[in-house]
Parts: sequence; C-alpha cells; structure tokens
Amino acid sequence: MEKINEKANYCLNCKVKPCSIKGCPLGNNIPQFIEQVKQGNYKRAYEILSETTVLQGVCGRICPHKKQCQGSCVRGIKGEPVFIGDLEAFVFDSVINERDSLLNCYGEDTKKNRSDKKVAIVGGGPSGLTAAAFLAKEGIAVTIYEKYDYLGGLLVHGIPEFRLPKEIVEKTVGKILRLGIQVKYKQQLGKNLLLKDLERQYDAIFLSIGANQSIKMGVEGENLEGVLGGNELLEYKLHPNYKGKIVAVIGGGNVAMDCARTIKKLGAKEVKVIYRRAEKQMPAEEKEVEEAKKEGIEFLFQNNIVKIIGEKKVEKVELIKTKLVQKENDTRLVPANIEDSNYQIKVDNIIMALGSTVEPYVKELGLQINRWGNIQVDENYQTSNPKIYAGGDLVGIKSTVAWASYSGREAAKNIIKIINEKRNEN
Ligand code: SF4
Repeated sequence: MEKINEKANYCLNCKVKPCSIKGCPLGNNIPQFIEQVKQGNYKRAYEILSETTVLQGVCGRICPHKKQCQGSCVRGIKGEPVFIGDLEAFVFDSVINERDSLLNCYGEDTKKNRSDKKVAIVGGGPSGLTAAAFLAKEGIAVTIYEKYDYLGGLLVHGIPEFRLPKEIVEKTVGKILRLGIQVKYKQQLGKNLLLKDLERQYDAIFLSIGANQSIKMGVEGENLEGVLGGNELLEYKLHPNYKGKIVAVIGGGNVAMDCARTIKKLGAKEVKVIYRRAEKQMPAEEKEVEEAKKEGIEFLFQNNIVKIIGEKKVEKVELIKTKLVQKENDTRLVPANIEDSNYQIKVDNIIMALGSTVEPYVKELGLQINRWGNIQVDENYQTSNPKIYAGGDLVGIKSTVAWASYSGREAAKNIIKIINEKRNEN
C-alpha cells in the first residue's frame, strides 16, 4: 500500500493532463483518478475510470504504457514517469470482488430502464464488451453473440496467464454482464449465425470478431510440417511437444514475445526470436523483451528469413543479415538484405508471429472491404450498411486493446445517437 501511495503522490496533477489527452487512447481522466487514489478513495477512482473505460484491470496490466499514457507523462521528461498502469490495475483490484461495482457506477436504472431498442454485438472481445457496456449504460437491450463458450476473446486466448491472469478477465466480464447484458454462446458468423437474420431482429449490429488468422510471409518451405501461425498457436493451443527442441519465432511484436515466452515455459531447449530490424525498432513492449531475455530467449536482430528447409518437416531455416538504410524522402530506417550474408540454422519449429488478418468469410458478409482486407468504416465506425457498425481488429484499429475498446465505445455512442434521433422523429 505504501508503494501505491508513493506512486500516486508522485503525480503532479497537471492541469493540461498530456497523459490523458495525448497518451490515453480512451481519454481516461488520469490526474483525477490518481487524485482519488492519493486520498484513499479507491471507489471514487474506479468511478472516474468507468466514465471512459470498462477494462481498467486489463489496460492497467497490458497496455503499452510507455507508448501511451506514461510516454506522455510530464514526470518522464526528467526522470521516471508516473506508473499509471500500476495505479489503474490497483484501482480495479480494489473492487475486484464487488460484482456490482460497474453497475453501481452506471446506476441501477441501467438495468431497469430497458428501452424497446435492441442491439446485437457479434464477438465478445475487448471491443465488443466495451460497446455492450456503453450501450447497456444507456438502457439499450444488448445481446452478445460469441463463437466460444466464454467471453473475453484474445484477452483469454491471445494473452498468456503470466501477462494477464484469467481471473482479471473473468471478473471484468462478470461486472459488464451484471449491467443486464444477454449472451448467446457458440454462435459463429457465417456458420450458425447469419447477418441478415440479425438485421431483421435488431435496431443495430456491432461487429467485433477480430482478425484471427496469422499473416504468412510467402517464403519457400512455409507449408512444411512444423511451421505454425502465432495467432492460431495462442488461440487454439496447438502446441507440439517442444521438449528439447529448437524453435524460431519470426516477428518483433507482443504476439512474438508471448509465443516465445510460452514456448520456452513449455520446455523448448532454445527459442530464437528473428527480427529483421534493430532492437529499438521492435513494436513489442520493452518490458516484455526484457522479460524474454531474462528467461533465456535469444534474439537475432537484423536477420531476415530467406527460406525454410526440410523434406517433409522443417529442419533448417536460411537467414540473411540486414542493414538499416534510409530511403529517399523518408525519415524511417528500413531493413535491406546484405548480399552474400546468408547462413542456415537448425530448427525444429518455426512460429510466424507477424501479425494477423481477418478470416476469409469476412469478405462474404456483403460489406465494403478496404485495401488491407478489413471492413471499411467511417469516423463513426459505421460500415457500408448503415445498420451495421464494426470495430477492433476487424477494421484494422492499431491492434491494441485500448484502441479496440475505444472503437467499441465510440461505435456505441453513435448507435445511441442514431437510435435517439429516430425516437425523436416518431
Ligand atoms: Fe500526473 Fe504525469 Fe499525468 Fe501530470 S502527466 S497528471 S504527472 S500522470
């Protein structure tokens, strides 16, 4: 507790609050909630956070704070920033066992004042859960359609327990559902759930089914046995037996770190992360990279994959060294292969953790798709069908939980606005 007070008292309660305005995708009122922590009013701190987010316990733990709130903290100019993530997680943990804590923030009326308006949410990950909560807050009847028999999406199957304990997700989901939200499990769009049926039954639909298919590189040998996609590995837990094996993980983001660390914990002899740029260009959180190093994971920076070699199963990978060069009219450094620097290393498995894309059936939904293959939305998260909204990774939102949650909240606001406008017309 002393530590928490110390962390809270370190905040200067800046009037301009760059941590909130510049740093937090959700615009959480950071100085105000920290002020309440300083005074020991943890419930009030939770209420303040709940005005803009329903994922306090999650974002407090897994947001890339250095790139977001803490990266904009005034304290960080001359020293360490305020540890905003730790304080946010602490506030959630202080109400963790109060099932009605969110309902109490939003008011009992949330449950009672159900309007005649109904919204379907397809996909119960961070974006869908947030949209559901902010719709329910306004008295809209919400039903979540979820393909699994649990809610949370990638918070459950995409992020390992050592980064985000399942209990935090379960308690978060529990608080949200207590707002009076209905859930229909094992409902998968394109299989046993049709968009046209939902359109008939609901006033609006919010799609938040994520992007769950690993991106491939298109290199020779990619289809050999033993080459796996990072997303599928984490989601479906299709781990082979790693005992005594050498595993290469390709990529430099958090999914690559999660895969590498999970595989090492599952008993691999050696885990090598292969990344074509330099360490400081890695999109993964610095603390995740540090943890991975401590756990004995090796990093091969500035190495590009040329081909995967093997008869039926992967046996070796051929790499080429890269140098960073500046392209004309571009300030960024890009990797370029160094001629004749090819070499081969022995590997038993290769994990492609290069990001993800939407599943093929998304193109069959009859909605406009953008050039990256995501569903096209406008600034209100409305798709080409005015009754259908979409958010999170499905629309290509920066791939972070906070941004996914933001899209859910903003879509909910716009759905409410349209519902109210129609109500006033009648
Ligand atoms: Fe506190 Fe840092 Fe935000 Fe200022 S910028 S209010 S010091 S957290």
